[in-house]
Amino acid sequence: MSDKNSIYYEFGVSPVINAAGTKTRIGGSLIRPEAVEAMREAAESFAVLSDLQSRASRLISELTGAEAGYVTSGAGAGLMLAGAAVLARDDFSAMSRLPETAGIVDEIVMARTHRTEYDHAFRAAGAEIVDVGTNDYHLGTGSTNVEPWELEQAITEETAAVGYIEKSYTQPELSVVTDIAHEHDTPVIVDAAAELPPRRNFSRFIEQGADLVVFSGGKAIRGPQTTGIVAGRQDLIESIALQNLDMHIAGEIWNPPELLDDVDLSNGVPRQGIGRPLKVGKEELIGLLRALELFLEEDQDEQRQRWLRRAEYLDGELSEIDGLDSRIEHTEESIAPEVVVAIDADVVGSTAIEITRTLQKADPRVFLGSDRLHREELVLNPMCLKDDQVDHVLDRIITAINAEYDATATEFMA
Ligand SMILES: *Cc1c(COP(=O)(O)O)cnc(C)c1O
Repeated sequence: MSDKNSIYYEFGVSPVINAAGTKTRIGGSLIRPEAVEAMREAAESFAVLSDLQSRASRLISELTGAEAGYVTSGAGAGLMLAGAAVLARDDFSAMSRLPETAGIVDEIVMARTHRTEYDHAFRAAGAEIVDVGTNDYHLGTGSTNVEPWELEQAITEETAAVGYIEKSYTQPELSVVTDIAHEHDTPVIVDAAAELPPRRNFSRFIEQGADLVVFSGGKAIRGPQTTGIVAGRQDLIESIALQNLDMHIAGEIWNPPELLDDVDLSNGVPRQGIGRPLKVGKEELIGLLRALELFLEEDQDEQRQRWLRRAEYLDGELSEIDGLDSRIEHTEESIAPEVVVAIDADVVGSTAIEITRTLQKADPRVFLGSDRLHREELVLNPMCLKDDQVDHVLDRIITAINAEYDATATEFMA
């Protein structure tokens, strides 16, 4: 198998065969080789980081239709910087004080069902999150989680922004939320970290009125794992830049980058902002730009077909085994087709959790999707698998449950 000579072994760490999809804790996605090469070249000389950010802003703007853009050290960092931007706006004094918010409008309103652990980033910037709505949709009575009037009512003089997480199931629709927020001159920040592909999502949320949208660079774009993108309003992106860029410079010799052309810098240079620890290096910036170019050129239908062939093969083989009931889930909204395998623990002799744990402890470690373990289901996502790993994953599952099945009798053909 291709990972035998993995660099991770050299450092005493077992590599992972990834049938779980783009999951941060196992390395996100595989960075494109061309992006690695671009990073290697970038490492050979210096460049002004803010020049690179200005260039990136233009590219992100073309891509998304937003006024401006910025490269961050991940979507999580993008959320924190977006939070810092809606709190401080263009106020250098506020920038220097965050996350302390005495005298600063600091509430971010969110539908309760949009809360995730990623929104800790808003609180880290100094925001206080105001929850709206209920979880009643899950009662199955037809009741919705959040009514537009509830959001409307929660927006007050103390509101700095509305936070929104974009998933195919989130309610209310983004355009409804942006309409309400904009009536109160309140910006909307959208977490769309994992909503690519399809490529049209680059512009979709901006078209629906989002003021800032955050994407991960280390998921399907396959840039460096420590990158993200923020696209949105010029004034808010400027605020992000001012709070993220290194500001240790004398005003007299500072050449502000094109990105800050519209900022009034007559009073001098702002202090290092709260975003300064979220530095993005020149190599990551160039790596992401190259990855973005390639993501734009990629034939996404062909790629989906490739993922589907892996999924169909796994589904076909697994459904042959007693105690496993396999199916493919593949909807318009899903990023990749997934193989869902229901486990009959009485027949198989192990639960979904036990199988998952066994595979994770193998060498190399094998990771499956784990979001349906509570339903006794394994999930196999083909998007981060290599063709020559497909049979290995099958083999590990079969070994883990001692199934009487000859996995070597078939072979995956890409
Ligand atoms: C992955 C993810 C993030 C964090 O992205 P990073 O690029 O790893 O910082 C934030 N929000 C959601 C919904 C995500 O899926």
